[in-house]
Amino acid sequence: MKQQGLLIVISGPSGAGKGTVCKAFLERHHEVMLSISATTRLPRKGEKEGVNYFFKDHDTFENMIKNGELLEYAKFVDNYYGTPKHFVYEQLNMGRDVILEIDIQGALQVKESFGDGVFIFILPPSMEELKRRIIGRGTETLDVIEKRLENASKEIGFLDKYDYVVINDEVGNAVSYIESIVTAEKCKVKRNKDIYKNFSGGMSYDDRSTAQ
Ligand code: 5GP
Repeated sequence: MKQQGLLIVISGPSGAGKGTVCKAFLERHHEVMLSISATTRLPRKGEKEGVNYFFKDHDTFENMIKNGELLEYAKFVDNYYGTPKHFVYEQLNMGRDVILEIDIQGALQVKESFGDGVFIFILPPSMEELKRRIIGRGTETLDVIEKRLENASKEIGFLDKYDYVVINDEVGNAVSYIESIVTAEKCKVKRNKDIYKNFSGGMSYDDRSTAQ
């Protein structure tokens, strides 16, 4: 049986550079799939349907919730965001790794329902840098910027729910760290229980402790 793919959940405050880091990671790893979220937020300039998000109106999104189509969802700065379930399970079952770039409320839900994922928190080097990045992006109103900064300081309090933290001081470094994390996760004994079968006539883990 083919081993299930790894579910890689990436969160962190808005402005930490998750999107840029994920994009750079995926450019180096065409074998890894990105889950495209659904949202009620309006598209930003240059964003495309089905590439950045599936853009939905409120009623359609609430129907998706009602019909159990979402693996998780959250309300973030007055808009819904959620992960369509079908795509994620299909890819994992085919043995492909899947990245979810989602907020903390969503990541905690995934942890409840799918504890076997790897949970990575991305942080900017400092709060000042975070502020600079959100303001520099120039896509949000002052009101939304303030809400995002307020959220960010609350969100950092959830760091201990994650398995790994990556400081995004430079995108290339952050990508290398994520590569190392994924490699380490795949080498975990718990993810390689079938390995003994490849060593016919070999000892099981338990035999080794008694043989001399
Ligand atoms: P943005 O509006 O900047 O694209 O995204 C706002 C926040 O929503 C980011 O922290 C992003 O990671 C998060 N987000 C994007 N998609 C999802 C999703 O499917 N579920 C959850 N819970 N959060 C998401």
